[in-house]
Amino acid sequence: MERLQKVIAHAGIASRRKAEELILDGRVKVNGSVVKELGVKVGSSDKIEVNGIPLEGEEPVYFLLYKPRGVISSVSDDKGRKVVTDYFPHIEQRIYPVGRLDYDTSGVMLLTNDGEFANLLMHPSSEVEKVYVAKVKGVPSKEKLRTLERGVLLEDGKTAPAKVKLLSLDKKNETSIVELIIHEGRNRQVRRMFDAIGHPVLKLKRERYGTLNLHGLNAGESKELTPHEVKQLR
Ligand code: URA
Repeated sequence: MERLQKVIAHAGIASRRKAEELILDGRVKVNGSVVKELGVKVGSSDKIEVNGIPLEGEEPVYFLLYKPRGVISSVSDDKGRKVVTDYFPHIEQRIYPVGRLDYDTSGVMLLTNDGEFANLLMHPSSEVEKVYVAKVKGVPSKEKLRTLERGVLLEDGKTAPAKVKLLSLDKKNETSIVELIIHEGRNRQVRRMFDAIGHPVLKLKRERYGTLNLHGLNAGESKELTPHEVKQLR
């Protein structure tokens, strides 16, 4: 039996001190129950979850899915809607999505059963570059695009610097296609950023997540990542 914070630290998710903070913050579960005390000891049969993600277990596997629109980024849905794991009916391991894409957003979605890896990528300091292509209402002016680049004030704070490129506009200037590259991953961030400049998103696609792109895949198709591709993401 080992102390819980030591087991979490050894899994590589966090330093011993950070692991203690995670426990005190109520973000760690043992066998389905939140544990908030630091002295608890756990054994190999105990199921530990950090931020809802299992610590270890099966052979790690990594998949890239071209998530179609109209699919939930989750392992189950109480309203019976299609979820991303429905695209992996023959995978024995319990995989789950790394981060989220909105129901109506399509694009690169990483799925794995490797909790350490998932936590690492989702940590705000990981700075994985995400490339989004948005069809927005109207044509944002240069100044508005600059505002997006410098950071816009959202209700959860100012966004970090981003890269923005106007890719094209339709003939009547009713809509335009804008590429936005960000490192953060706040809830509905891209939609909220465009809302903030007065050009709501009509359609959104994540073209790239770190080194992973959609080349060779159609919506709803997936591929297993090679060890090299996994290494590149770390
Ligand atoms: N930003 C959004 O607004 N939606 C997504 O699905 C991803 C990023």
